Amino acid sequence: MLIQSNLESLPVHTMQCFELPKQNTKMLDKVHRNFFWKKSNVDKGLPMISWEKICRPKKFGGLGFRKTAAINLAFQCKLAWKILQEKENLWVAIMTAKYLKHSNFLMVTPKPSDSPVWKSVLRSRSLLKKGLRWIVGTGENISFWWDNWVDNFNLIELLGRDSSLLSNPDCTVGNFITRDKNWDLPKLRIVLDNDLIIQKLLGIPIRIFEKQDTFCWGLTGSGSFNTRSATWAAHDSVDPRDATWSFKWIWHLDIMSKIKIFLWQLLHNALPVRGILVRCALNIDPACFLCMNDIESTYHLFGNAPI
Ligand SMILES: [Zn+2]
Repeated sequence: MLIQSNLESLPVHTMQCFELPKQNTKMLDKVHRNFFWKKSNVDKGLPMISWEKICRPKKFGGLGFRKTAAINLAFQCKLAWKILQEKENLWVAIMTAKYLKHSNFLMVTPKPSDSPVWKSVLRSRSLLKKGLRWIVGTGENISFWWDNWVDNFNLIELLGRDSSLLSNPDCTVGNFITRDKNWDLPKLRIVLDNDLIIQKLLGIPIRIFEKQDTFCWGLTGSGSFNTRSATWAAHDSVDPRDATWSFKWIWHLDIMSKIKIFLWQLLHNALPVRGILVRCALNIDPACFLCMNDIESTYHLFGNAPI
């Protein structure tokens, strides 16, 4: 689609290095939105589905469009990933020498004197933490409650705990590993009251020969970072745990894209039929033009119309 291949990629070069101001990303989204709904130069079209819904992956019922701010943040996150993974890279070496002399990247606090690029890379750490999946070695660098080390999630999320009620918010995974490198079951039982989660934790291997904890990018099968997965993680409305859309098979049909979009709109009950247009406060007669017997709804037209 033109929006994905062209409009989304136009500002990519700038977005790879800099964080665009909010009003710019909003303006770019507006251009995409208008372009999508617009029928001609004169007809502005009528948005029937929220942009929020459109900007979801196809398997979750959207059209796979990505919000500009999310793409931008994912590019910053790519730089952040580089800092963690590519120590020998020249840019990383310079940034490390300049900003990370006394702290590590995940812990360092931003300073007003930091360069704009560094500030935006630091801001992307919240996204980085969403995708960062820890692999347990000693467990000493992994926060027991806050870091993702159980299937890409942290325990606060998995258990739905209120973090303000934790008696030991700063404990590490290492606190729950015995000297002979096994999970300390009695200790786990004291803090966790969920048997399913405890079983899950016991199934996580402890890397006996590793002296340190390591991590991978948990949002791809290969464990390597890619901007696409980071972009989707940056969309607040997308939760990988959501159920997939029941009609996602329409995208595999061997038909024109235009008809796929029509079907997509039909299945979201978002075709501009009279019954729906009336609800959008348009002053028209909602009766079906063909039989004059019923309100013109999607179901009436495609499901039970007598003609
Ligand atoms: Zn009818």
